[in-house]
Amino acid sequence: TGKDWQMMLRLRNPAGYVPGPLFVALDELSDRLGNQTLRATTRQCFQMHGIKKGNIKEVIGTIVKSMGSTLAACGDVNRNVMAPAAPYEQGSYPAARKLANDIADVLSPQKAEKTYIDLWVDGEMKYAIKPSSEVKKNKKLQLKPGVFSGDKKEPLYGATYLPRKFKCATTVPGDNSVDILTHDIGLVTFTNKKGVLEGCNVYVGGGMGRTHNLDTTFARIADPIGYVEGEHILELVQSILALQRDYGDRKTRRHSRLKYVLHDMGVDWFKKQLTTKYFTRQIENLKHEGDTILEDYLGWHQQSEKLWFVGLPLLSGRLTGRVKKELRNIVEKFALDVRLTPNQDLLLCNIGNYQKASVKRALINIGFINPGAPDSLARNAMACPALPLCGLAMTEAERFLPELLERINNQLKILEINKPILIRVTGCPNGCARPYMAELALVGSGLNQYQLWLGGSTNLKRLATPYLQKMPIDDLEKTLEPLFLSWKDTGASSSLGDHVTKLGSESVMSLLTSSAAP
Ligand code: SF4
Repeated sequence: TGKDWQMMLRLRNPAGYVPGPLFVALDELSDRLGNQTLRATTRQCFQMHGIKKGNIKEVIGTIVKSMGSTLAACGDVNRNVMAPAAPYEQGSYPAARKLANDIADVLSPQKAEKTYIDLWVDGEMKYAIKPSSEVKKNKKLQLKPGVFSGDKKEPLYGATYLPRKFKCATTVPGDNSVDILTHDIGLVTFTNKKGVLEGCNVYVGGGMGRTHNLDTTFARIADPIGYVEGEHILELVQSILALQRDYGDRKTRRHSRLKYVLHDMGVDWFKKQLTTKYFTRQIENLKHEGDTILEDYLGWHQQSEKLWFVGLPLLSGRLTGRVKKELRNIVEKFALDVRLTPNQDLLLCNIGNYQKASVKRALINIGFINPGAPDSLARNAMACPALPLCGLAMTEAERFLPELLERINNQLKILEINKPILIRVTGCPNGCARPYMAELALVGSGLNQYQLWLGGSTNLKRLATPYLQKMPIDDLEKTLEPLFLSWKDTGASSSLGDHVTKLGSESVMSLLTSSAAP
């Protein structure tokens, strides 16, 4: 048609892993054929914007040849699988990362991969994803008639794939970097002393997306369904996906995620269907996980006896300009790998003891003077891309985040409150930056207007509550001040989210609306 079409491209980076050569290739592609930026998403993968239609084959082909893939990163399939990004080599971390990788492979469309390789790298199968032995065994299971679908064309997904996107995450007890309750399937891994996976606590039916003024859509946190032994976990995730394939609503797209099946039919029904039709193994009682915190891994950490990693804060995950260029140089020069966190930050990994001082110096040169101690509000803040990059955006998010943080920082300073707040912003209710888990969230509801959500917890275990529907952004400070003052009166000893929860919605509402009185 003569139109200059351009695309957004998203990678598949299970557990946020981006091998060094892939990072270098992405940097080069984004400079030459994209919009000269890279973006670490809230699902731990890189996104590139501004890829012209005529350049797609070169871009995807280069990614695939550089140890990357975009297969199933978008669409009504299982999306990028999340796991703690920290490359720790002890405890349950390696098992959680391996499990994320195996889930990504076992839930990949089987036959589509062949077409994908044909299309983008002219059928060179040496670039196909190499699955582990556990994945191979479970992929065979998909072909057994009657177990899942037995469809020879696409064994697990069948001809019509899923009703909607599907999301999985794994983690270790105590580490909630992945927002474990916001996924269709969340798995908390338990290992033995040697780090071998023993089993997982299983959570199902979380999801953030909703639509304004449509009460049949809502954010939901996942329900625990029990503990499953490690050797059966891949079979379990295939079973849950197959259940959603068969029972997810295919008539109303806005009501088609697994969370609505759980909500409408109940956990007991779900477990009964699951264990009679799809997964005939035992589901035991949940194991104790202990206290959980939101880990972000910023700053320097020992990865193993001889290796280090350093977590670098990136606001909204955006890599651009000199920082982008120099990070690529550092990755290339020191042969490092990159890992992306669910908080949209970037970890430089595999830094040898002998390289640490040089990498530190190189990072100081580009402004990462003390990466472990960024501004306290920016540390955990997240925003989705919104305008001008997302067609669904009703207002600003990423571009507005720096101003928002500065305004709230100033207000807290004036009110002499010295406590961080977990803040998230999205341009529409689809909730890509998981706003409904934040202590304070703005969800775009019109140009320069936001729904105000309050009351999530600092460890991302509690849903926030919507208070105002269309708060003009100019009214931000005026609206929040009475609430902040009531928080200060308590000594701000608890977090803002806990304070809001303790106050109760009626009191919070009257504080928020008190500033509107003439
Ligand atoms: Fe996602 Fe909505 Fe933000 Fe677009 S505007 S990135 S759909 S939350």
